[in-house]
Amino acid sequence: MNLNCTPAEEAFRRQVRDFFENEYPRDLLDKVRNGDILGRADHIRSQRALQSRGWLAIGWPQEHGGPGWDATRRYVFEEEMDRAGVPHLLPMAILYVAPVIYTFGSTDQRRRWLPDILESRSLWAQGYSEPEAGSDLASLRFRAERDGDHYVLNGTKIWTSYAQWADWIFCLARTSKEPRKQQGISFICVEMSSPGITLHPIISIDGLHHLNRIEFKDVRVPVTNRIGEEGRGWDYALFLLQAERLSYAHVARKKQDLKQLQRLAAKLPSDHDGSMLDDASFARKIAACEVQVDVLEISVLRVLTASTTVSAAEVSGLKIFATETAQRITELYVELAGRSVAPWPDRHLVGWRDLAPGVPDFAAPWTASYLFERAQSIYGGATEVQKNIIWKAIGR
Ligand SMILES: Cc1cc2nc3c(=O)[nH]c(=O)nc-3n(C[C@H](O)[C@H](O)[C@H](O)COP(=O)(O)OP(=O)(O)OC[C@H]3O[C@@H](n4cnc5c(N)ncnc54)[C@H](O)[C@@H]3O)c2cc1C
Repeated sequence: MNLNCTPAEEAFRRQVRDFFENEYPRDLLDKVRNGDILGRADHIRSQRALQSRGWLAIGWPQEHGGPGWDATRRYVFEEEMDRAGVPHLLPMAILYVAPVIYTFGSTDQRRRWLPDILESRSLWAQGYSEPEAGSDLASLRFRAERDGDHYVLNGTKIWTSYAQWADWIFCLARTSKEPRKQQGISFICVEMSSPGITLHPIISIDGLHHLNRIEFKDVRVPVTNRIGEEGRGWDYALFLLQAERLSYAHVARKKQDLKQLQRLAAKLPSDHDGSMLDDASFARKIAACEVQVDVLEISVLRVLTASTTVSAAEVSGLKIFATETAQRITELYVELAGRSVAPWPDRHLVGWRDLAPGVPDFAAPWTASYLFERAQSIYGGATEVQKNIIWKAIGR
């Protein structure tokens, strides 16, 4: 594998870097750098800034509004995006449901939903999990009963990320009872403003509102909101999950995080002489983590440039490794923050830094990340379940 870019790719890299340095909204980069909390409007502004160049939907085919880049250009772009410190994309529309819409949706559905997603006029949420259907998703009980040219939806979805910001939610719903539980499931898109939907916030361990429980009571949805065939939703759900699990790597962001960790460690005194970076034990941990990120990078590049379809087991392996690496980085930050992780100010408050004098600025956001990143072993499919997928593939 040749990791060197061609002169044309390097020119492309400079063009992208120039955009982030000179055109992209600086205040958003400052917010991310300062560990401030971003709201819906911030994310929309960020996505629209990318789309002003046609650079939001980088994985979509050109005919549907993607830039038509090859794997290397996509990788270079994501590297530059993470290097600049751009807020993460809200993935549910751009990365998850849009490929389902342009691959399995009708022409009408593409026309209806894709332009709004591209312009961030509509945000989406993912309605897969239920109180008793997570790892064993196919046992879901959420019902969609046919009533003329509508479905009537009843049931509960849970752990629904950013549903409080969403205009639409894509749901897996049982449209018939079949002998195999994976059968009889359909993929249905619902407007969040529909009568009968009630949203209950769930506050996570980091004190923030990422998650929700959503009750559906007799929610009427036109049949034309179903993507693909009735009863074939499980196939579309798995197609989407592959994309979701591949989206977690964020290699360039991890590299930046490790560089910043080193800069901070060079400034903070250790219990012995010198800085934390002079501490052999801590320096060794950073080095081991750098190797881990390098291995992740090579693994991601292998998948991106693979000539054959990537297997579910490979995707699962990558998800586990990306998760462990992300969690390890947050652990190193918490170790560096040491005692400072204890006073933990509410970052919604203006001037939150002044509430904990003497505490380094990075301590609060990174303590929050440390706590929330534990969830990466769960969302998108728990680590144990990914190991089962790998084991089944090896056993064959
Ligand atoms: C931060 C966060 C964001 C999320 N966002 C969304 C979202 O936007 N939309 C959405 O639909 N869902 C979302 N989820 C839900 C997520 O997909 C589920 O939590 C996940 O699939 C696990 O399901 P569960 O919570 O029901 O746990 P369970 O399935 O009950 O699992 C509990 C434990 O048992 C283990 N386990 C279960 N089955 C097996 C097995 N066969 N072998 C070995 N171990 C097993 C699991 O690994 C886990 O440790 C989110 C979750 C989190 C934490």
